[in-house]
Amino acid sequence: MTRILSFIISAIILCFNFAEASEIGGSMEKIKSKGYAMFSQDGPFKPYEFERHAVGDNDILIKIMYAGICHSDIHQARSEWNEKEHYPMVPGHEIVGQVTQVGKNVTKFKVGDYAGVGCMVNSCKDPNCETCRHNREQECCDVVFTYASKDKFHDGEITQGGYSSNIVISKNFAIQVPKTADLEKVAPLLCAGITTYSPIQFSRVRKGDKVAVAGFGGLGHMAVQYLVKLGAEVTVFDVSEEKREAAMKMEAKNFVNVSKNADFCKDHLNEFHFILSTIPAKYDMTAYLKMLKFGGEFAIVGMPATKNAPSISVPSFVFSPNRKIYGSLIGGIKETQEMLDYSVENNIYPQVKIIRGTPDEVAKQITEAYDTIVNGKVQFRFVIDMRGL
Ligand code: NDP
Ligand code: ZN
Ligand code: ZN
Repeated sequence: MTRILSFIISAIILCFNFAEASEIGGSMEKIKSKGYAMFSQDGPFKPYEFERHAVGDNDILIKIMYAGICHSDIHQARSEWNEKEHYPMVPGHEIVGQVTQVGKNVTKFKVGDYAGVGCMVNSCKDPNCETCRHNREQECCDVVFTYASKDKFHDGEITQGGYSSNIVISKNFAIQVPKTADLEKVAPLLCAGITTYSPIQFSRVRKGDKVAVAGFGGLGHMAVQYLVKLGAEVTVFDVSEEKREAAMKMEAKNFVNVSKNADFCKDHLNEFHFILSTIPAKYDMTAYLKMLKFGGEFAIVGMPATKNAPSISVPSFVFSPNRKIYGSLIGGIKETQEMLDYSVENNIYPQVKIIRGTPDEVAKQITEAYDTIVNGKVQFRFVIDMRGL
């Protein structure tokens, strides 16, 4: 009797495990992927083959066409934020490609559609989760970032990013990309686009507002385009004189080369309604605070290496009264879709430099691109053509 009972219990447990697994794993067949990985924080990139989890009933499989290189990839791959990163690491969270397989519960996408992936691939999506319920999945305690992140929904596997041939992602985290989009330029919208669009919306920038963008790189040049489109009067602060011309072409009103004048803030005291900092290095936050108008907002998205993190003193806050500083982290999925549709409709795209070639050539070019970005020599975003993999 005891034996029969234990057999029944084992059978029930087995069925339960299978049901749970099939909901997560669908066919349960792992997906083979090829990519470019760093094997230690010192690089270089090398071609790398690995497996992704199976396409579950709520997942889609995307064949990656293009992936952007964000400065965050550099911070993370070089262990600048966290000493205990996971290697081999395939970075990349600016991804666009074509859907090649859909799980059985997926109606939002069909095979052949174009889809984008940004910085997140999953979160709890529990209706009781305050942040997921309000479309701010990036704040969810269980958020799974696109790479170098522990995926609790798939046995704790460490995610691998978009410098690769394909990706499996929950349908809820894939962004629909219209057929009319300029595909070579879409990928950077998935991080540089949303990270700048979101605080501009949050601070309700309006036509005629005097605003500033600090750091005119991959993120900064997207911010300038969104702000100009809104009819704001934009001043750009950067360290490279070579970027002045591009800022003017994008219809910024002013370009200030901060490396030429340490007291640059004195010419702009109390001037701006809104300032967005995308600076990836150490800088003087107080100088930017002083340039805000009464009630103005300073949004920070740039995240320098931990050892270079800027700080601000309490007295400098208090003596710039009623000015606000806040941080902003990418944007939720709903807002990312809104940003993508808006960008395509208004022809707002990054300026890109495409990396392509044989796998060995591409690996070498990505390694070199990291130094080029850090040295400020790219206008404005590298995008890797993945179709050769
Ligand atoms: P880029 O390197 O493309 O751009 C950074 C720009 O800042 C460059 O033009 C650089 O100039 C300029 N710069 C450097 N130092 C200064 C300074 N002291 N004052 C003014 N400008 C300066 O990087 P990205 O745009 O890709 O990323 C920017 C930062 O944003 C990174 O730290 C990244 O990690 C972070 N990020 C944050 C996200 C979020 O959700 N909060 C999402 C994505 C990125 P030059 O090139 O001439 O050196
Ligand atoms: Zn990014
Ligand atoms: Zn959640």
